[in-house]
Amino acid sequence: MSTLRFHAIKETYAYKPLVVDEKERRSQLFGNNVFNEQTMRQYLTKDAFEKVTDAIYFGKKIDRGIADQVASSMKDWALSKGVTHYTHWFQPLTGATAEKHDAFFETSGDGMAIEMFGGGQLVQQEPDASSFPSGGIRNTFEARGYTAWDPTSPAFIYGTTLCIPTIFVAYTGEALDYKTPLLRALHAVDAAANDVCKYFDKNVKKVTSSLGWEQEYFLVDKMLATSRPDINLTGRTLLGHSSAKGQQLDDHYFGSIPSRALNFMRDLENECMLLGIPAKTRHNEVAPNQFELAPIYEEANLAVDHNSLLMDIMGRVASRHNFKVLLHEKPFAGINGSGKHNNWSLTTDTGINLLAPGKTPMSNLQFLTFFINTIKAVHQHEALLRAAVASASNDHRLGANEAPPAIISVFIGDQLTKVLEELEGVTKGKLSPKEKTELKLNVVGKIPDVLLDNTDRNRTSPFAFTGNKFEFRAVGSSANCGDPMTVLNTIVAKQLKDFKEEVDVLIDKKGLKKDEAVFNVLREYIKSTKAILFEGNGYGKEWEDEAKKRGLSNNKTTPEALKAKVSKQTIALFEEMGVMSKIETEARYEIEIESYIKHVQIESRVLGDIARNHIVPTAVKYQNVLIENVKGLKEIFDENFTSVSKEQIKLIEEISNHIEGINANVTKMIDERREANAIENIEERAMAYCNQVKALFEKIRYHCDKLELLVDDELWPLTKYRELLFTR
Ligand code: ADP
Ligand code: MG
Repeated sequence: MSTLRFHAIKETYAYKPLVVDEKERRSQLFGNNVFNEQTMRQYLTKDAFEKVTDAIYFGKKIDRGIADQVASSMKDWALSKGVTHYTHWFQPLTGATAEKHDAFFETSGDGMAIEMFGGGQLVQQEPDASSFPSGGIRNTFEARGYTAWDPTSPAFIYGTTLCIPTIFVAYTGEALDYKTPLLRALHAVDAAANDVCKYFDKNVKKVTSSLGWEQEYFLVDKMLATSRPDINLTGRTLLGHSSAKGQQLDDHYFGSIPSRALNFMRDLENECMLLGIPAKTRHNEVAPNQFELAPIYEEANLAVDHNSLLMDIMGRVASRHNFKVLLHEKPFAGINGSGKHNNWSLTTDTGINLLAPGKTPMSNLQFLTFFINTIKAVHQHEALLRAAVASASNDHRLGANEAPPAIISVFIGDQLTKVLEELEGVTKGKLSPKEKTELKLNVVGKIPDVLLDNTDRNRTSPFAFTGNKFEFRAVGSSANCGDPMTVLNTIVAKQLKDFKEEVDVLIDKKGLKKDEAVFNVLREYIKSTKAILFEGNGYGKEWEDEAKKRGLSNNKTTPEALKAKVSKQTIALFEEMGVMSKIETEARYEIEIESYIKHVQIESRVLGDIARNHIVPTAVKYQNVLIENVKGLKEIFDENFTSVSKEQIKLIEEISNHIEGINANVTKMIDERREANAIENIEERAMAYCNQVKALFEKIRYHCDKLELLVDDELWPLTKYRELLFTR
């Protein structure tokens, strides 16, 4: 086995970097493989083009005749680019993307063949859905689900396949994917925000939710990664002693990008350009071999699709450069893990970012309205927001003093804190003309339009206002952004809806003027949401104590956190906002709990295997070398033997102790797993996996990692951290 490690290292050194051509300007490549507006204008009749854009912007239905035209044009365009197949591309709840390719090719019965693609095939397909998670919605004996075209996300070509973004739903109508609830949530926030905008600007017709994600990842040499069964099967290292040099010198962050990694990035970005993913930023992250890619923000549904697509193509491009991409939240112990910041904002069709301060008192009041309502929404649903980012892998990151804590709080910066303090003092009911003027001039009028520099400094906050957007930083690097975006947009939609009702009551029943009513409701919100605002160090123990006093949840593990997904409050919220039915909400919960169990179960099996079948035999082998050595010394030195062999004997003992530590704990872990598997109730089973099975990982690892420091390097079978992290 150790030969595999050394073989891999040798291969790595022999690798010649792949050179990437960048002859064309990126702006010229951008969107070339996308059936976007420009292409549609070229390929569709004016009528069909207008119908499709109506569907994109206003959710209008597309009739069959138009669908036929669009399909035929898509096919012509795709064939002109050498495409042979098409697929409905969707995001089932496995977390990966799914596709099943069909050829355009059809026989025509007379021994001839043609390429065909009709509206029917564009609009709806029936993949055999029985093997996708459904949380019991769809019994497998009636394994019927269908995919349906989402015209708001343009079709694209990858390789020789035309990919059509679709939703994935059961025949009975329940969503089986990430996209369907997201689209419903985006619709809800559009409607609610639109209504509130009308207080400030009657011309607003549509409010769009934007997402700009920042994707962190690790690049590890493919051969080295392949030599580790844990990386192959779980996406992370389950053991491995930390490297003597890690990230302590801070010499990687923003440093010059190693050339092989840079070639990978250029290649990846070229692919992004062709697919219309507006990749903009690349840099080294904090940990060695850790990097980040960020695009220009986009409409949230499209941004989610683009992130899912990116995660998929990253792996393929990496392979060309002999890299493996690790999207796991914590691939290596002792150095930083990876997250995916979700930058979020709302924009009107009149071009106003509702989360950016404006130039006039009125536009600032609008900004404060959306700003304070978002804070209020987060306060009311903090546990749900935490649940939206819960996963077995993200548990390693949240609260681990490098990433946001498991407690959700909102950071807003000094200036806005002061503004809220002043607004809190607004008189109840009608305002005197003097107070109104005072407010407009000195409070609302004085919000500087460039807050950016003042607000981005607290990196420990999970939900930070960064000048013209909120940044949700607790999202895991491997997560589909669909879920956190569904939750965030839904809670904000619900909050805006409530706000509108409260303001209208003050206007209609109490005779307040519009701005008076708005000030009055906002004042009460500021008073009631203080508990969620936190400007201090989110990593500190003091914050945990303080948050507890404030009544904020602090769910450190997935099984605990997920409960908020099926609370009465959540079920009612999703139902009221038309995002998910009770059945859908409960099914998703079940899927996630099961996924958690399976992830921990797989890790536990792999760890047991490596510890017993790789580490223990290696330790015994080395121990035998020592024993032979001691025997030899005894022969030579006779009675002086103890003084020359005492260190070896100590080592022999130490190795035995660690072997015992491994064996005893692995046996215990297997027993715990057996017991957990017998638990009928999945919530309790998940708890058992979390508290009994997973709890033994660290103990087993401890002994393995100690052995790594004792055993002859030549014998050690697993590629070491220093090799995984410093070979580029
Ligand atoms: P960092 O957080 O690393 O300092 P930035 O804050 O500059 O980086 O931007 C990070 C991401 O935020 C980018 O993907 C960018 O497109 C996105 N972003 C910028 N403005 C907005 C906005 N108004 N709404 C949503 N995302 C935005
Ligand atoms: Mg950021």
